[in-house]
This record gives sequence, structure tokens and C-alpha cells, in this order.
Amino acid sequence: MSLPWLREPWRQLVADYHNQRFGHAHCIPDRKGVGAEAYTQTLVKFLLCLQPQKQACGQCKSCLLMEAGTHPDYYEVASEDNRAIGVDKIRELTQQLQQTASQHGSKVAWIKDAHRMTIEAANALLKTLEEPSGNTYLILSPERTSDLLPTLRSRMRLHTFHEPNQTAVEDWLTQQLGRTLSEAERVRSQQFPGAPLTALAALNGELADPVDFVQVIANAMISETAWPQPKKDDVQQWLEASLAWLQELIRIRQRVAQQRLHYPQLTLAAQEWLQREQISVTTLNGWLALCYNLRKITREQSGLNLPLLLQQQWLQWIHRP
Ligand SMILES: [Zn+2]
Repeated sequence: MSLPWLREPWRQLVADYHNQRFGHAHCIPDRKGVGAEAYTQTLVKFLLCLQPQKQACGQCKSCLLMEAGTHPDYYEVASEDNRAIGVDKIRELTQQLQQTASQHGSKVAWIKDAHRMTIEAANALLKTLEEPSGNTYLILSPERTSDLLPTLRSRMRLHTFHEPNQTAVEDWLTQQLGRTLSEAERVRSQQFPGAPLTALAALNGELADPVDFVQVIANAMISETAWPQPKKDDVQQWLEASLAWLQELIRIRQRVAQQRLHYPQLTLAAQEWLQREQISVTTLNGWLALCYNLRKITREQSGLNLPLLLQQQWLQWIHRP
């Protein structure tokens, strides 16, 4: 495991596996910024390897098939174009999992974008979780663990990732870039707390959009600058930024320690604004719940005018009763 903050969880996982305390169903949230995808890939290879030690051996027949991308006992399901994962796809998967493994090892299925499963699809999966066959492993990667139905969650091992602190992030970035960070780079990296991979992408200029969405929303709310005009292709980012900003306001309102704040450059202005407008945590939580709900319904239903719906949310923030 090359990412230092994932070494300890990986060590634990391998120990549990060798001690037969591993289980068949796993929820590994897709935390892109901490490297969850690489972690899960490493796990898939480990589970399929015919002679795994601290990781997959890389040499057995199973490892070679995996390397070639042709392993017959590995199944992957993912959302296409952000569409829902329907019951048909899951039924097809569960049928495949009932067949005997062709490589005399394990069968592994990885359901990516698991938060996009319809309720019907999730229910179709339940049966497989309830009666797992001996050598079958199921890995679900939703955006957040809480996106899964409780009935699913309660039958899985829930993996969590501890975010590395800012010092660890900066050390890692220094190592990756092969040089000391400039002051500007340090400040930039602080905008992605606990998400070193995202910070690295930002420093390498690889983030899709240079506009800092949260900053724009915060300015509109606090400083009454113009609100953005979300379009179909960037509205998801605006929605995510809205969620991130509300969460930050709640942290500020609850007076969490300075180092746990994600946007320190905005704290002072936000504090003054919360004070002046007398916005309570309850109010902020209400807005947050509405935003989460918006995210949920846009996943479940197509044809909604999300840009308009998001702008309506923002209106509530401005025109409070
Ligand atoms: Zn192997």
C-alpha cells in the first residue's frame, strides 16, 4: 500500500483476512481524495490471488489473469453516465455469483457507484448478502456509507478512512513533487483538507475547473455578490459546493477547533455573518437536509431541472422567514 495513511487500515484488513475474521460483504466508500479506489483495487487483487500474503503475489495464474483484465471470476458493476443502477444489472450479477468459480479461487464483485442503485436493485442484492456462498466477496462503493439502505449496511463490514492531517498531507505532497511547497501551494493544498490526492491534482493544475465553487457560493451568501448561474454540466459541482459550504457553516457555528475547518480563509467573514443574521445550527441543518434530498431525488429521477431546483434552494438561504 503506497499511500502512507492507508497502510494501517490495510495491515488490519490483511490480518483479519488471515485470521478468518474478514466477512463476505464490504462497504468501502469511494473517497477519491484519500485514494479509496486504489485501496479497493488492491483488495480485489488480494482476494482473487491464490496465495496472498501481505498483498496479492502478482505471479499466480489468478494474478496474471487480473493483470490482463480477463479474470473470469471478477465482476464489476458501475453506473453508466451517472444513471441509476437498475435491478436487472444486479440480478444478472447475483446469478453469475451463484456459479462455481472457474479458477478454483474466490469470486469477487465490485459494485462501484453503489449509491446509484435503485431500491429494487438494493433489495435484489440483499438475498445474496444474507446467504453468501463460501468464497464469494462483494464490495460496494457508494459515495458515502450512509447512502446505502440500512438493511444493506447492517449486513456488511463498513470500512472507514481516517483523513491524514494537514502536516501529513504536506509531507506527502512534498515527497510527490520532489521539492518543498511554496507558501501559495501550501495555502492551496489547505483547501482540500484530508484529501491529499485532490490537493496533488490541484497543485499539478489537473482539477477540471479552476473556479473555486465554494468560494463563489460563500461570497454570494456573505458578501452579497452575484449568485452563480448553474448549467446542466456544472450543476453537480455547485450542489456539492453548496453541501460543503453548509457543513462548514455548521462547524463554525458549533465552534469546532480551527484546524478542523476546511476553508480557513472564509472563517472570519462567515462568523460575522452568522452572528449578524442570527442563523442557528437548526436552520443550517434544515438547509443541509434539503440539499441532500435534492441530490437524492436527482439520482432517482431523470428529467428534473436541477439548475432551477438548486437556485430555489439558494433563494431560501437569502429570503429567510
Ligand atoms: Zn497471486
